[in-house]
Amino acid sequence: MACKTIDQIDVASKRVLMRVDFNVPLDDEGNVTDNRRIGQSMPSIQSVLDRKGRLILMSHLGRPEGNGYEQAYSLKPAVDRLRELLPDVKITFVEKDCVGEEAKKAVESIKDGEIVILDNLRFHEEERKGDAGFAAKLASYGDIYCNEAFGTSHREDASMFAVPKAMEGKPRVAGLLLRKELRYLSETISNAERPFVAVLGGVKVSDKLGAIRSLLDRVDSILVGGAMAYTFIKALGHEVGSSLVQLGMLKQAEQIIEEAAERETKLFLPVDHVCGKQISKQTPVKVFKESIEAGWMGLDIGPETVNQFTEQIGRARTIVWNGPMGVYETEPFDVGTHRIAESIVTATERGATSVVGGGDSAAAVDHFRMVDRFSHVSTGGGASLQMLEGKRFATVDLLDQS
Ligand code: AMP
Repeated sequence: MACKTIDQIDVASKRVLMRVDFNVPLDDEGNVTDNRRIGQSMPSIQSVLDRKGRLILMSHLGRPEGNGYEQAYSLKPAVDRLRELLPDVKITFVEKDCVGEEAKKAVESIKDGEIVILDNLRFHEEERKGDAGFAAKLASYGDIYCNEAFGTSHREDASMFAVPKAMEGKPRVAGLLLRKELRYLSETISNAERPFVAVLGGVKVSDKLGAIRSLLDRVDSILVGGAMAYTFIKALGHEVGSSLVQLGMLKQAEQIIEEAAERETKLFLPVDHVCGKQISKQTPVKVFKESIEAGWMGLDIGPETVNQFTEQIGRARTIVWNGPMGVYETEPFDVGTHRIAESIVTATERGATSVVGGGDSAAAVDHFRMVDRFSHVSTGGGASLQMLEGKRFATVDLLDQS
C-alpha cells in the first residue's frame, strides 16, 4: 500500500493545508541560493490551483529562537520566489505570523485558485514541541491536510504530526514530492534490483552508522570514501597521517568490517588517497597508497580507488549514494566526487536506478550541475539518511492509504 496523493482527491473550493519544506538556503542578502525544494513542490501546488482548490502553505525556515518574529528567518524570500514562479496567482503572505488574527482573516477570505502562505512556523516554540493547542489552530484552517515536506518528515513537529492528528476524519494525503521520495528511498531500496551498490562518504562514521548497518543486509557492495574512510583504515591498523578520524568509532568500524565479511557483503575502502597539508586550493598535493605520511591529510579518493569504485558502479542495477568522496568544495579535491557522480550518471543512462541522498551529496551534484541526471536526488538530508536506516516515520504512517 502507498499513501494517497493530493492529485487523487477532490480539492475544488476546499481549503488544502499543505505543509511544504521551504527551508531553503539563503545568502547574506537573503536571496534563495538553492530553489530545488520550492521547484519540486510545484507539481503539488499546481495540481491544487488547476483544480480550483484554496491552498494554504505552511513551512519552517532555519532555527529561530521560537519567541516570535525574526526577520532573518522570515519566509519572505521563498514567497518572492513563489511569486516569480506563479505570476498570475493571487498569493497572500501573512508576514510575521501563522496563528494570529491576520492569518485567520487571510484563510477565511481565500478564494478558489488562490494561495495564502503563513510565515515561519518556528517563530512559535510550540511548533518544535508538537504542541496540541498550536496544532489545533493550524488544523482549523484546512478541509484537507497534505504533507509535502519530506525534509522534515523525520521530525514530529506540530505541523507534521499534531496537525494531521487533529484533522482525523478529513482527508490527509501525501504531496507528489513526498510520494516520490518515499518511492525511491524506501520502496526502491527494499526491492532493489541487483547488483545493489551503496556509496557512502562524508565526515562522520557516527552519523552514518545506522545506515551502514541497515545497508549491510541489503546491498552487494558498499564503497566507502570521504573522511569517514579514515576511521575504517585506521581501525585496520594503517597510518592515516593527519586525516580526520573519529577515534571513538574505531571499535564500531572494526565491527562493521567483520559484519560485512560474515554477510559476504563486499566493503571497499580507498586504496589510494589524494592528500594535502591542509584544506586549501594552494596546499601542496601528494598521492599516497595505503599508509599516509605524518603531516598529510587524505582529502579525496585517489585514481586507483576511483577505478575500483567505478567498476562496481558500472555493474550495478541499483545505486544509492550518501556523502561526498572528498572535500568537493575545494579544488583539486573535488575530482573523486565528480568522477563517482559521473559514473553513477552513466550507470543511470544505461538503465540502473540511482538515488542520491539529500544534504551534502545533493549539494555536490548541484555543484557539478548534474541534478537532473540521476533517477532521484532527495530534498531531505536527515530524513533520507533515516530512511536508509530503514526507519518508519509516524508523520507518514498517519496519512491515508490508497
Ligand atoms: P557529511 O555532512 O558527513 O556528508 O560531510 C560532508 C562534508 O565532508 C563535505 O563538506 C566535505 O568537504 C567533507 N569531506 C569529505 N571528505 C573529506 C575528507 N577526506 N577530509 C575532510 N573533509 C571531507
